Amino acid sequence: MEKRDIASYSLDELKEQIKELGLPQFRATQIYDWIHKKGAISFYEMTNIGKQLQDKLNDNFVIFSCSIEKKLVSRYDNTVKYLFKLPDDEYLECVVMDYKYGLTICVSTQVGCKMGCSFCASGIGGFKRQLSPSEILGQIYAAQRDLGIRISRIVLMGMGEPLDNYDNVIKFLKLVSDENGLNIGMRHISLSTSGIVPRIYDLLDLNLQLTLSVSLHAPNNEIRSKIMPVNNKWDVDELLKACKNYADKTSRRISFEYAMIKGVNDTPECARELSKKLKGFLCHVNLIPANEVPEKGHERSDDNNINAFKEILEKNGLTVTIRRTLGSDINASCGQLRREKLSETRGERSEN
Ligand code: SAH
Ligand code: SF4
Repeated sequence: MEKRDIASYSLDELKEQIKELGLPQFRATQIYDWIHKKGAISFYEMTNIGKQLQDKLNDNFVIFSCSIEKKLVSRYDNTVKYLFKLPDDEYLECVVMDYKYGLTICVSTQVGCKMGCSFCASGIGGFKRQLSPSEILGQIYAAQRDLGIRISRIVLMGMGEPLDNYDNVIKFLKLVSDENGLNIGMRHISLSTSGIVPRIYDLLDLNLQLTLSVSLHAPNNEIRSKIMPVNNKWDVDELLKACKNYADKTSRRISFEYAMIKGVNDTPECARELSKKLKGFLCHVNLIPANEVPEKGHERSDDNNINAFKEILEKNGLTVTIRRTLGSDINASCGQLRREKLSETRGERSEN
């Protein structure tokens, strides 16, 4: 029988499992505490449960843990990037950033991505599979363990589209915010989506105090459909309507992500059109100088254009930031390390 993924269970689910094994309930609380508070990756670290139970758990369950394939530390700031290897030989990435207000981790939610955005490295090699709740959590536990630190903020902005792995992501959010676990408040978590509109409404119904980031990247359908195929399914107006509902219901400011791509979406006309679209919106615009991904053939906008774009938005009353590029020497943007790994592996294969 395949061993069950114990770190994906909520405390209540774990209690059920423990009951089925004929064990008292307090054991579930102890085990949950070891996994989610103390970061244990083996039942044999659980010193207060006895050898017999350790063996029994080990026969029935597995504690997922990420194994570090590669770790890069930026020379410029304290950014650390990990490439993790999964048991099925897939790779995933996460980045730990040292922001002024606490250590932030950027986690992946899928291996690969189905959404096919033209500028993004995550979809190179296609979509492989969903990550389980424990595989999303495991990135945080592995980084904490390796660095001997405590993470205080989480952004779901690594590889993959979180709302395309909705159930596992919601489960992850519940586990990571659980007071019996890491206990990171929803206000310290941001979820970024390319705009799967029905799932934004589902999220809204849950009324979590989560920050929603939306990858807008264009002021109109013509440009957005060219760079983000998802726009053919749910267009800019439908997306903005869902965002408006989200902001109204949660009173949380939406963060719009806008990658500045030279000659594609960075003109003053685009800035004026975007200002009109977002007028009166409870939001924040985050301009991201596009990371150049060799296979994708797009260029980063010039600083002058980025600054001019920002100025136009601000003149129209919008709050705007230009995202700092952290860890620029270690390919710290999503999907890039895995992209390198994949091409390395392809290279090895073609030499054989
Ligand atoms: N799939 C989700 C979350 C992961 S991507 C989403 O698309 O929102 C995290 C952010 O990085 C998104 O805003 C995404 O559009 C942006 N991004 C992806 N590739 C980029 C690149 N080459 N340059 C700048 N931003 C990029
Ligand atoms: Fe997927 Fe987001 Fe990259 Fe688009 S930007 S391909 S949705 S990870």
